[in-house]
Amino acid sequence: MGSSVMVRVRYAPSPTGSPHVGNIRTALFNFLFARSEGGRFIVRIEDTDQTRKVEGALEDILASLRWLGIEWDEGPEIGGEFGPYFQSQRLKIYQHHADELLKKGAAYRCFCTPQELEEMREYQRINKIPQMYDRRCRGKTADEIGKELASGKPFVVRLAMPLQGKIAFEDAVRGRVEYEASLIDDQVLLKSDGWPTYHLANVVDDHLQQISHVIRGDEWINSTPKHVVLYQAFGWEPPIFAHAPIIKGADGAKLSKRHGDTRCLDYREKGYLAEAVANFIALIGWSPGDNREIMRIQELEAAFSLQGIQPSPGVFDLQKLQWMNGEYIRALSKEQLYEVVAAFDANTKDEQYLESASRAVFSQALKKGDKDYVMRALALEQERVKLLTEFPEACEFFFVDHVRFDDQGVAKWKGQPHIEALMNFYLEHLADKTEMSAEDCEQMVNAAVERLGLLKRALAIHPTRVALTGRSFGPGLFELMALLGAARMKTRFEIAKNVLNA
Ligand code: GLU
Repeated sequence: MGSSVMVRVRYAPSPTGSPHVGNIRTALFNFLFARSEGGRFIVRIEDTDQTRKVEGALEDILASLRWLGIEWDEGPEIGGEFGPYFQSQRLKIYQHHADELLKKGAAYRCFCTPQELEEMREYQRINKIPQMYDRRCRGKTADEIGKELASGKPFVVRLAMPLQGKIAFEDAVRGRVEYEASLIDDQVLLKSDGWPTYHLANVVDDHLQQISHVIRGDEWINSTPKHVVLYQAFGWEPPIFAHAPIIKGADGAKLSKRHGDTRCLDYREKGYLAEAVANFIALIGWSPGDNREIMRIQELEAAFSLQGIQPSPGVFDLQKLQWMNGEYIRALSKEQLYEVVAAFDANTKDEQYLESASRAVFSQALKKGDKDYVMRALALEQERVKLLTEFPEACEFFFVDHVRFDDQGVAKWKGQPHIEALMNFYLEHLADKTEMSAEDCEQMVNAAVERLGLLKRALAIHPTRVALTGRSFGPGLFELMALLGAARMKTRFEIAKNVLNA
């Protein structure tokens, strides 16, 4: 294929479920490749197996793509020059092409009944013969076929695979791949009800839709020799094939739910940012060839190449995704963070989040609270948070009148001799204050240390944090004090005086 050929690639999901990381990786690689080459990215829905169709799967496929910013140039809802983009609307095209293969002798009618096929398989099992169609219909004469047809017997159309030699193709990831032709089944291309199988529909559409590169998961590589034979039979030039490696868990085992693999859309519900998820998925089995890890979509588009796809298994590491998500959260401006968190809170369906103890107060603050106060509270927690779901808990103390004291924090300071004096000092100092900057707050703490003659500043800092937030850890003390402001601090020091008293 000359380099002048327009790059046209496709994502061809079957609507059999909600897409997971592996499926979306295929979509993303195709999309990035199209963008990197100035080509077109097509979405084609392979819905020829009506028995496997799942309600809502199509909607989830499109929603996943949209969420991650994987926009298609042709396909569902937008159409295009090469439609329809649903295979179920193209049956005549496949039937016509099956006929063409029959005429050429590259395919044949098989009249075997399900029962005959079952008997054949049973025979093969018993005699330990490889399980494949024994081609008994392949040698039928025109006369025999005429009779079967005249009697109205149902038939399927099978591909007549070469009986010897090798079938080879050059895979852009794997290099040269070879198969022994005689070991490959005479694949059914058209079923007796007139519906095509994946193989026929996929090849016909890739050709008619002028697909230049087929980038898909490794689980399809064993179908490729059949496709290669189909291209030859039609007299068509095959596309370039690139099979992306399988994906394993970080422990090297087959990827599963246990590793955190779920529907892509679940990541949205669980507080991941689309940019982080896209970045993470792009790096599973592909590398820019340097050490870059945080790469936004435009950067990925610029860097993407088929050479960067690795033949060895890709690794799905949930911890890495969480780390990346934290990085993307930190990269948001204060205003962006507020918008992202508010939208998340309003839209997520994650039950754990919706039912968590801190959520109601948090949600209320987002909807009715002082926007500037909420924005600054979020910004103070931004440094430490990895998932959007963590904000309500992390920010809770900013929004409640009575903080929840954690036992350890209280136990450490309760009854210590200087606590009451410390609280009193603050209360006195704050009596006439309203606005306080972080520096003002730091000075107040330093003044307390001096007045009380404390040996270490930590003896003031830690109990002050516990008094104001209920916890022993959190964002910078002086910043959070400044944000709480004098009035809130006064109330809290009053309460803490009692809580921390022996
Ligand atoms: N319909 C197949 C799938 O569900 C497409 C495989 C291919 O890209 O050829 O993944």
